[in-house]
Amino acid sequence: MVDGSSAPKIAAASSNRLLRSLPLDEYERLSHHLKPLHVAARQYLHRQDDPVEYVYFPNEGCVCSVIKTANNGASVQVAAVGCEGLLGIGAVHGSLRSPSDVQVYLPSSGVVAMPISAFTAALEERKAFFTHVMRYVAKSIQSLMQSVTCNALHSADARCCRWLLSMRDRANSDEFPCTQEYVAAMLGVRRPTVTLICALLQREGLIAYGRGRVAIVNRAQLEARACECYHAADELMSDAARAHVHQLGIRIGAVSSNGAGNVA
Ligand SMILES: [Zn+2]
Repeated sequence: MVDGSSAPKIAAASSNRLLRSLPLDEYERLSHHLKPLHVAARQYLHRQDDPVEYVYFPNEGCVCSVIKTANNGASVQVAAVGCEGLLGIGAVHGSLRSPSDVQVYLPSSGVVAMPISAFTAALEERKAFFTHVMRYVAKSIQSLMQSVTCNALHSADARCCRWLLSMRDRANSDEFPCTQEYVAAMLGVRRPTVTLICALLQREGLIAYGRGRVAIVNRAQLEARACECYHAADELMSDAARAHVHQLGIRIGAVSSNGAGNVA
Protein backbone atom coordinates (compact mmCIF):
# COMPACT_ATOMS: atom_id res chain seq x y z
CA MET A 1 0.00 0.00 0.00
CA VAL A 2 2.88 2.34 0.74
CA ASP A 3 5.71 3.01 -1.67
CA GLY A 4 8.45 3.57 0.85
CA SER A 5 11.17 3.86 -1.75
CA SER A 6 9.80 7.03 -3.30
CA ALA A 7 8.06 8.59 -0.32
CA PRO A 8 10.28 11.27 1.16
CA LYS A 9 10.86 11.64 4.87
CA ILE A 10 8.71 14.51 5.94
CA ALA A 11 9.37 17.08 8.60
CA ALA A 12 6.01 18.84 8.76
CA ALA A 13 3.81 17.65 5.92
CA SER A 14 0.80 16.37 7.78
CA SER A 15 -2.25 18.45 8.61
CA ASN A 16 -3.80 15.64 10.63
CA ARG A 17 -5.05 17.25 13.81
CA LEU A 18 -4.20 14.37 16.11
CA LEU A 19 -0.59 14.55 14.98
CA ARG A 20 -0.41 18.32 14.86
CA SER A 21 -1.72 18.69 18.39
CA LEU A 22 1.34 16.89 19.71
CA PRO A 23 4.17 18.84 21.34
CA LEU A 24 6.44 20.04 18.58
CA ASP A 25 9.47 17.99 19.59
CA GLU A 26 7.41 14.82 19.79
CA TYR A 27 5.75 15.50 16.45
CA GLU A 28 9.06 16.13 14.74
CA ARG A 29 10.50 12.92 16.13
CA LEU A 30 7.48 10.89 15.00
CA SER A 31 7.42 12.58 11.60
CA HIS A 32 10.47 10.58 10.57
CA HIS A 33 8.28 7.49 10.67
CA LEU A 34 5.52 9.07 8.59
CA LYS A 35 5.21 8.69 4.86
CA PRO A 36 2.96 11.05 2.88
CA LEU A 37 0.70 9.15 0.55
CA HIS A 38 -1.51 10.32 -2.27
CA VAL A 39 -4.71 8.34 -2.38
CA ALA A 40 -7.56 7.93 -4.84
CA ALA A 41 -11.31 7.80 -4.30
CA ARG A 42 -12.49 4.25 -3.59
CA GLN A 43 -8.94 3.09 -2.83
CA TYR A 44 -8.75 0.60 0.00
CA LEU A 45 -6.28 1.30 2.79
CA HIS A 46 -7.28 -1.74 4.84
CA ARG A 47 -9.23 -4.84 3.81
CA GLN A 48 -11.39 -6.74 6.22
CA ASP A 49 -9.47 -9.65 7.84
CA ASP A 50 -6.21 -8.76 6.10
CA PRO A 51 -3.03 -8.00 8.07
CA VAL A 52 -2.62 -4.35 9.05
CA GLU A 53 0.81 -3.06 8.14
CA TYR A 54 0.24 0.67 8.46
CA VAL A 55 -1.82 3.06 10.49
CA TYR A 56 -3.09 5.99 8.42
CA PHE A 57 -3.65 9.59 9.47
CA PRO A 58 -5.89 11.53 7.04
CA ASN A 59 -4.86 15.08 6.23
CA GLU A 60 -7.29 18.01 6.12
CA GLY A 61 -10.16 17.33 3.74
CA CYS A 62 -9.38 13.65 3.30
CA VAL A 63 -12.24 11.42 4.43
CA CYS A 64 -12.19 7.64 4.73
CA SER A 65 -15.04 5.24 5.34
CA VAL A 66 -14.76 2.33 7.73
CA ILE A 67 -16.99 -0.31 6.20
CA LYS A 68 -18.13 -3.62 7.67
CA THR A 69 -19.29 -6.34 5.31
CA ALA A 70 -21.59 -9.15 6.39
CA ASN A 71 -21.33 -12.75 5.18
CA ASN A 72 -24.07 -12.12 2.62
CA GLY A 73 -21.96 -9.41 1.02
CA ALA A 74 -24.04 -6.48 2.26
CA SER A 75 -22.00 -3.67 3.78
CA VAL A 76 -22.54 -0.58 5.86
CA GLN A 77 -20.38 2.32 6.94
CA VAL A 78 -19.65 2.07 10.64
CA ALA A 79 -17.53 5.21 10.85
CA ALA A 80 -16.17 8.11 8.83
CA VAL A 81 -12.70 9.30 9.71
CA GLY A 82 -11.09 12.55 8.68
CA CYS A 83 -8.21 14.64 9.90
CA GLU A 84 -9.41 14.35 13.49
CA GLY A 85 -8.29 10.76 13.79
CA LEU A 86 -6.52 7.71 12.49
CA LEU A 87 -7.31 4.45 10.74
CA GLY A 88 -6.21 1.21 12.33
CA ILE A 89 -7.14 1.72 15.98
CA GLY A 90 -7.23 -2.05 16.43
CA ALA A 91 -3.44 -1.91 16.43
CA VAL A 92 -3.63 -0.06 19.74
CA HIS A 93 -4.72 -3.32 21.34
CA GLY A 94 -2.38 -5.49 19.34
CA SER A 95 -4.83 -6.57 16.67
CA LEU A 96 -2.87 -7.65 13.61
CA ARG A 97 -5.81 -7.94 11.23
CA SER A 98 -8.30 -5.34 10.17
CA PRO A 99 -11.85 -5.92 11.42
CA SER A 100 -13.22 -3.90 8.52
CA ASP A 101 -12.54 -2.36 5.16
CA VAL A 102 -11.18 1.16 5.09
CA GLN A 103 -11.93 2.95 1.84
CA VAL A 104 -10.98 6.45 0.76
CA TYR A 105 -14.05 8.57 0.11
CA LEU A 106 -12.57 12.03 -0.45
CA PRO A 107 -8.84 11.91 -1.28
CA SER A 108 -8.09 15.65 -0.95
CA SER A 109 -4.58 16.07 0.47
CA GLY A 110 -4.12 12.38 1.18
CA VAL A 111 -2.88 10.60 4.28
CA VAL A 112 0.33 9.92 6.09
CA ALA A 113 1.19 6.30 6.77
CA MET A 114 2.97 5.02 9.85
CA PRO A 115 4.30 1.46 10.04
CA ILE A 116 2.70 -0.62 12.77
CA SER A 117 6.10 -1.20 14.39
CA ALA A 118 6.71 2.56 14.71
CA PHE A 119 3.14 3.13 15.90
CA THR A 120 3.48 0.51 18.63
CA ALA A 121 6.88 1.83 19.70
CA ALA A 122 5.54 5.38 19.91
CA LEU A 123 2.64 4.24 22.09
CA GLU A 124 4.97 2.37 24.41
CA GLU A 125 6.81 5.62 25.16
CA ARG A 126 3.66 6.70 27.05
CA LYS A 127 4.05 10.32 26.01
CA ALA A 128 1.57 12.75 24.50
CA PHE A 129 1.07 10.54 21.44
CA PHE A 130 -0.17 7.73 23.69
CA THR A 131 -2.55 10.08 25.47
CA HIS A 132 -3.94 11.53 22.26
CA VAL A 133 -4.41 8.15 20.60
CA MET A 134 -6.13 6.72 23.69
CA ARG A 135 -8.41 9.72 23.86
CA TYR A 136 -9.28 9.22 20.23
CA VAL A 137 -9.94 5.50 20.76
CA ALA A 138 -12.27 6.30 23.66
CA LYS A 139 -14.13 8.85 21.55
CA SER A 140 -14.33 6.37 18.68
CA ILE A 141 -15.96 3.80 20.94
CA GLN A 142 -18.49 6.43 21.99
CA SER A 143 -19.09 7.26 18.35
CA LEU A 144 -19.60 3.60 17.44
CA MET A 145 -22.10 3.21 20.28
CA GLN A 146 -23.91 6.22 18.91
CA SER A 147 -23.93 4.66 15.45
CA VAL A 148 -25.47 1.45 16.77
CA THR A 149 -28.16 3.51 18.44
CA CYS A 150 -28.64 5.54 15.29
CA ASN A 151 -28.99 2.55 12.99
CA ALA A 152 -31.53 0.90 15.28
CA LEU A 153 -33.65 3.82 16.37
CA HIS A 154 -33.49 6.70 13.92
CA SER A 155 -35.22 7.22 10.60
CA ALA A 156 -33.45 6.91 7.27
CA ASP A 157 -34.31 10.55 6.62
CA ALA A 158 -32.59 11.77 9.80
CA ARG A 159 -29.64 9.45 9.29
CA CYS A 160 -29.17 10.65 5.73
CA CYS A 161 -29.07 14.26 6.93
CA ARG A 162 -26.57 13.29 9.60
CA TRP A 163 -24.39 11.51 7.06
CA LEU A 164 -24.37 14.46 4.66
CA LEU A 165 -23.40 16.85 7.45
CA SER A 166 -20.72 14.53 8.73
CA MET A 167 -19.17 14.28 5.28
CA ARG A 168 -19.43 18.03 4.81
CA ASP A 169 -17.59 18.72 8.07
CA ARG A 170 -14.78 16.31 7.34
CA ALA A 171 -14.45 17.53 3.77
CA ASN A 172 -14.52 21.09 5.07
CA SER A 173 -16.56 21.98 2.02
CA ASP A 174 -20.25 22.52 1.29
CA GLU A 175 -19.88 20.61 -1.96
CA PHE A 176 -18.36 17.17 -2.43
CA PRO A 177 -18.67 14.06 -4.60
CA CYS A 178 -21.64 11.93 -3.66
CA THR A 179 -23.88 9.42 -5.39
CA GLN A 180 -27.16 8.09 -4.10
CA GLU A 181 -25.87 4.58 -4.61
CA TYR A 182 -22.95 5.28 -2.32
CA VAL A 183 -25.11 6.93 0.34
CA ALA A 184 -27.44 3.92 0.30
CA ALA A 185 -24.51 1.56 0.76
CA MET A 186 -23.04 3.63 3.57
CA LEU A 187 -26.37 3.86 5.41
CA GLY A 188 -27.31 0.25 4.76
CA VAL A 189 -30.61 1.20 3.14
CA ARG A 190 -32.10 0.63 -0.30
CA ARG A 191 -31.23 3.09 -3.01
CA PRO A 192 -34.87 4.06 -3.76
CA THR A 193 -35.12 5.16 -0.14
CA VAL A 194 -32.17 7.52 -0.61
CA THR A 195 -33.63 8.73 -3.91
CA LEU A 196 -36.85 9.74 -2.17
CA ILE A 197 -35.04 11.43 0.70
CA CYS A 198 -32.67 13.38 -1.55
CA ALA A 199 -35.51 14.50 -3.79
CA LEU A 200 -37.38 15.80 -0.76
CA LEU A 201 -34.33 17.57 0.65
CA GLN A 202 -33.64 19.19 -2.71
CA ARG A 203 -37.26 20.25 -3.15
CA GLU A 204 -37.15 21.92 0.26
CA GLY A 205 -33.93 23.73 -0.61
CA LEU A 206 -31.66 21.96 1.87
CA ILE A 207 -29.36 20.36 -0.69
CA ALA A 208 -28.67 20.35 -4.41
CA TYR A 209 -27.30 17.38 -6.23
CA GLY A 210 -26.43 16.17 -9.68
CA ARG A 211 -23.60 14.74 -11.74
CA GLY A 212 -22.21 12.80 -8.84
CA ARG A 213 -21.91 15.75 -6.47
CA VAL A 214 -23.98 17.17 -3.65
CA ALA A 215 -24.04 20.69 -2.25
CA ILE A 216 -25.26 21.65 1.19
CA VAL A 217 -27.52 24.65 0.53
CA ASN A 218 -29.13 25.18 3.92
CA ARG A 219 -26.95 23.76 6.64
CA ALA A 220 -29.08 25.01 9.52
CA GLN A 221 -32.17 23.28 8.21
CA LEU A 222 -30.24 20.14 7.46
CA GLU A 223 -28.98 20.11 11.05
CA ALA A 224 -32.53 20.52 12.27
CA ARG A 225 -33.54 17.47 10.23
CA ALA A 226 -30.59 15.34 11.31
CA CYS A 227 -30.86 13.05 14.31
CA GLU A 228 -29.17 13.85 17.61
CA CYS A 229 -26.25 11.61 16.62
CA TYR A 230 -24.82 14.30 14.39
CA HIS A 231 -24.10 16.59 17.31
CA ALA A 232 -22.84 13.73 19.45
CA ALA A 233 -20.41 12.63 16.76
CA ASP A 234 -19.49 16.22 16.10
CA GLU A 235 -17.94 16.39 19.57
CA LEU A 236 -15.24 14.02 18.41
CA MET A 237 -14.24 16.46 15.73
CA SER A 238 -14.54 19.41 18.08
CA ASP A 239 -12.33 17.89 20.73
CA ALA A 240 -9.62 17.29 18.19
CA ALA A 241 -10.06 20.78 16.83
CA ARG A 242 -9.78 22.32 20.28
CA ALA A 243 -6.54 20.48 20.95
CA HIS A 244 -5.33 21.57 17.55
CA VAL A 245 -6.10 25.23 18.19
CA HIS A 246 -4.48 25.03 21.62
CA GLN A 247 -1.27 23.80 20.10
CA LEU A 248 -1.40 26.40 17.36
CA GLY A 249 -1.35 28.98 20.11
CA ILE A 250 2.17 27.94 21.01
CA ARG A 251 3.35 27.08 17.54
CA ILE A 252 3.40 29.65 14.81
CA GLY A 253 2.65 28.62 11.27
CA ALA A 254 2.50 24.97 12.14
CA VAL A 255 -0.24 23.90 9.80
CA SER A 256 -1.03 24.62 6.22
CA SER A 257 -4.75 24.02 6.14
CA ASN A 258 -5.74 22.56 2.84
CA GLY A 259 -9.41 23.15 2.31
CA ALA A 260 -11.38 20.46 0.73
CA GLY A 261 -13.28 20.99 -2.42
CA ASN A 262 -10.04 19.71 -3.83
CA VAL A 263 -11.50 16.33 -4.39
CA ALA A 264 -11.29 13.89 -7.19
ZN1 LIG B 1 -29.01 8.99 14.76
